Amino acid sequence: MKILIAGAGLAGLSLARALLTRGIRADVVERRPDWTSSGFGLFLPGNASRAFAELGLFSAISQSAVPIRRQDFYDHRGRHLSTVDSERFWEGCGPCLGMPRAVMHKILLDSVAPVPIRTGRAIADVRQVAGGCLVTFDDWSCETYDLVVGADGLNSTVRRLAIDPAPPTYTGNGCWRFFADNHAGIDAWTVMVAKGRTLLAEPVDRSTLYVYAELAQAAGDPRERASRAELQAIFADFTAPLGPLLRQLQPDTPVHFSRIEAVQPPVCFRGRVVLIGDAAHATSPSMAEGAGMACEDAVLLADAITAGDDLDTALGRYAARRQPRVDWVRGQSETRDRIRRLPAAISTRLLRFAGTRMYRRSYTPLLAKA
Ligand SMILES: Cc1cc2nc3c(=O)[nH]c(=O)nc-3n(C[C@H](O)[C@H](O)[C@H](O)COP(=O)(O)OP(=O)(O)OC[C@H]3O[C@@H](n4cnc5c(N)ncnc54)[C@H](O)[C@@H]3O)c2cc1C
Repeated sequence: MKILIAGAGLAGLSLARALLTRGIRADVVERRPDWTSSGFGLFLPGNASRAFAELGLFSAISQSAVPIRRQDFYDHRGRHLSTVDSERFWEGCGPCLGMPRAVMHKILLDSVAPVPIRTGRAIADVRQVAGGCLVTFDDWSCETYDLVVGADGLNSTVRRLAIDPAPPTYTGNGCWRFFADNHAGIDAWTVMVAKGRTLLAEPVDRSTLYVYAELAQAAGDPRERASRAELQAIFADFTAPLGPLLRQLQPDTPVHFSRIEAVQPPVCFRGRVVLIGDAAHATSPSMAEGAGMACEDAVLLADAITAGDDLDTALGRYAARRQPRVDWVRGQSETRDRIRRLPAAISTRLLRFAGTRMYRRSYTPLLAKA
């Protein structure tokens, strides 16, 4: 079977790995010429660890990651609201981990070493033909495949050409991300909340924190693409444990600002084209499920493709099995975003008195295997 994977991000490489372990070598093309600037930090909930374990990568990942045993919630003045014992919650499934995204990406890349990845090559066109797809690349070369997998992220070309031309939609949040030295010794997923503002940090190695600051912003808000000075001004009233991280920001520390966008294509496959990862279901990162969902997609799709059914039946079965979980994560992510925009008096009460209950509600369905 001839399979093309468009995109060598976390989803595409996970699928290449899952297929390789089942005896299939897919072609992988990646638009980027190299792997420099491979993102910031990742939080991996227990179901993500389990999915990467299914790829045989658990020991490589856990050796390079920091176990995150609890989630601590504070208001912006540093008053403790609640603590979720995430280690206990995910017991029997997999540990929660923090790590740099670049490290995760390198582990996946190394794990598919026998698969040639064509970097600097993008998909320019996809056409369904009898029993497959005719793909045109950006160097004008063409090739026919039995199956094309769009693992090409939020702004997926494959999705636009073959499934849904609609662009991503803005979630109403913008965010800044950077790495900082962990002088404060933060050892948990730690979050501080105020109305429409969230400041979060987690360790990603022995000495480094990944810091994420989120701001609810109406579309067209002049603060979009905001500078680090604005980040510091907007969160100036945040105290310890996380506020000092912003005030100690070094001028040469890279700080990245982006709008957060989501996609909801009407279907995840059409004919011989299927979408996985962010191309299929990018959501707000409030559940930190992007990498885990991408890896679950990959394992399930590889299982479906190699189960012995014809490809059309396999894709239909994959989509039917995957959709309820995708819908759940999307719905819960949106709910969590809405809670963050409530007046502080309400959201902090919710976190104080129902933090663990809300966590359990969001994640319990994900304890079951995808
Ligand atoms: C602010 C923020 C914070 C996040 N935090 C977390 C977190 O803590 N934990 C977590 O699990 N998830 C998190 N996520 C989500 C997670 O990063 C994504 O879900 C995940 O990276 C998706 O992987 P992907 O492979 O689907 O897409 P991508 O990582 O975007 O990879 C797509 C690849 O396709 C390539 N490509 C694009 N177009 C083409 C083309 N035409 N031809 C060939 N190649 C192409 C791109 O260059 C890229 O390499 C966060 C997301 C955001 C925005």
